[in-house]
Parts: sequence; structure tokens; C-alpha cells
Amino acid sequence: MSNLSVCFRDLACEWIERAPMSEQTTFKIGGPADGLLIVHDAASLQTAQQRLREEGVRAMLIGCGSNLLVADEGLRSVVIRFDSGHAAIRQIDKTVLRVDAGVPLAKLSRFAQQQGLSGLEFACGIPGSTGGAVYMNAGAYGGEMVGVLCDAEVLFPSGERRTLAAEELALSYRHSNLMQTAGFVLSATVALTPGDPEIIHRTMSELLTARREKQPLEYPSAGSFFKRPEGHFAGKLIDDCGLRGYRVGDAQISEKHAGFVINRGAATCEQIKQLARDVRTRVFEQFGVSLEPEVRLLGTSWDE
Ligand SMILES: Cc1cc2nc3c(=O)[nH]c(=O)nc-3n(C[C@H](O)[C@H](O)[C@H](O)COP(=O)(O)OP(=O)(O)OC[C@H]3O[C@@H](n4cnc5c(N)ncnc54)[C@H](O)[C@@H]3O)c2cc1C
Repeated sequence: MSNLSVCFRDLACEWIERAPMSEQTTFKIGGPADGLLIVHDAASLQTAQQRLREEGVRAMLIGCGSNLLVADEGLRSVVIRFDSGHAAIRQIDKTVLRVDAGVPLAKLSRFAQQQGLSGLEFACGIPGSTGGAVYMNAGAYGGEMVGVLCDAEVLFPSGERRTLAAEELALSYRHSNLMQTAGFVLSATVALTPGDPEIIHRTMSELLTARREKQPLEYPSAGSFFKRPEGHFAGKLIDDCGLRGYRVGDAQISEKHAGFVINRGAATCEQIKQLARDVRTRVFEQFGVSLEPEVRLLGTSWDE
């Protein structure tokens, strides 16, 4: 793996060997990836992807690591992410923005507000990147990426680079077909509507306050751990099973919001998985509802 640094020498990027994934995820969990490549632009990503393919090395792209649970053993692959400092937002029309995948959603929604563009208020408190938000079809408070996305430029594992209309990405609740095609989102185009910057600002402030009041933002987590089951709320089902505050080691169902699993300090991936298994079993036994994790698991599987 050490020879790989040579592959990237001429690219706009940084290369870190044996990079602890606990430093790349909001859960603060995960052993080292064989290598972490922080790229400055899409061209560098494309060249790096091609060279890794030629070397037969597995590559995965992450965003802000805010929806990830990584194995304690780490990842036998190269993890790539964009350097958000080099990611840009371009206004290509009065109401249309082209956004590099590495732009944090918070920055994007603030930019839209300042331009008097409405439609991204829902996203202001989601701690992910634009690319990760497309991949996950991130959403909150009645809004979702599918509501604003026009198209996305995608780099496929074969090396093909193509702009896909939003419909071709098949976005649905916390899902896109990028989960099957393993395409890397390089940039996204969003269409917004003209609005009053002050009203947009007020709405965003209210949503951020609601998050601070309801969510355990003082602890590392990956947000809502389980998807919302049809006709239910995961947090309510968990709470109704008496599992609020339930712990496995340092992994805990938040006392503040039973839909959140938090890391109280030294939680391991195995502890989070055990806690998730216990919760799923109890909820299924009591309510016959099968909870599906929203969090993406890397380097291990839920049943291992
Ligand atoms: C406190 C907190 C609150 C949250 N609130 C919400 C919420 O209200 N609504 C919500 O939907 N989510 C929420 N989340 C979860 C998370 O922020 C979202 O899922 C977000 O979209 C993930 O983006 P990311 O850049 O962090 O992706 P990551 O977590 O880094 O990656 C998630 C998945 O996306 C893939 N991916 C990332 N970037 C790309 C790319 N450019 N191209 C292709 N694939 C990519 C990764 O491979 C991985 O499979 C919350 C998380 C936290 C910690």
C-alpha cells in the first residue's frame, strides 16, 4: 500500500496512510483505512480512481462521515473524500446552483439563503456533504434532496463520467440507486425558488433551534440510527419498549431522543451493532415492526 503514494504525487490531493476512520466520522468510531486520499477536485478524483482500478485497489468515497459506522478493524481499501475547502458553489441561473459534491449542506443552505433562494432550509442542520446528501436523499422537516435536485454528475466504477437527471438516480426515502451502481457524485445541480432572505433565515434558525432542543448534539452520533418504518416513528417504538437510555458498553440509546444512538466516549463498532441488534429484536417482538438501519455500515455487516 505504501507504493500508492507515488500514484498520487502529481495530483491535487493529500495522502494519509493508515488513517483512523474514527477521525473521519461523526460517530468517532472506526479503525484505520489502509489509506485516505483527500482530493481537491473532481479531475484528481477521476485520475486517482483510474490508477486505483489499475492497481486493483478498492476505493470508496465518503462525504463528511455523518452517516457512517466503520468496523473496529478498519477498512482494507482506500477511502477518498473531497477537501471541502476547495469545493465551490456556482450560480448558473437566477435560481439554479451547481454545487461541488464536497460542499457541506450547511454552507450550501446558507449560500442559498443569502441569495434569496428558498428550498434548502430543511438542509441547514444536516451535517453532511452535498454528494452524501444526494447519495442518501437526505431530508428533514418535510424537505428532501429529491425536491430540489435537477441532476448530478457521476463517476462510475468503470471510469465513465456522466450527468444524470434526478429521475435517473431513483431517489426515494433515504435511498438512491447510487447504492447499487456505486457511482461517485462529483457535483449536483439544484433548482430553488426566489424567496425573502429574512424569512428563509428565520425558518432556518427555527429548525436549528428545534434540532438543538430535541437531538443529543453534544454526543458523537450518526443522526437517526434507524429509518422511519411505514406508519411509525423509530424513536417512539424504541421508547415504548422501555429502551431509552439502554446501553451496551459506551453505545447508548440517547436519553434525549430515542431515535439516536450515541457514543458516550469509547463505544466500539461491535457495541453499536450489538445495541442495534438488541433494539431490533425487542421492537420486533413487541410491535412486529422490523427496524432497518439508516446508518451505512463499512467494513463489516450487521449479522457478523
Ligand atoms: C447530528 C446528526 C443529524 C442528522 N440529521 C439528519 C437529517 O435530519 N436528515 C438526514 O437525512 N440525515 C441526517 N443525518 C445523517 C447524515 O448527515 C446524512 O445522511 C448525510 O446526507 C450524509 O452525508 P455525508 O456527506 O456525511 O455522507 P457520509 O456519511 O460520508 O456517507 C454516507 C454514504 O454516502 C456515500 N457518499 C458520500 N459522499 C458521496 C459522494 N460524493 N458520491 C457517492 N457517494 C457518496 C458514502 O459512500 C456512504 O455510503 C444526521 C447526522 C447527524 C450526525
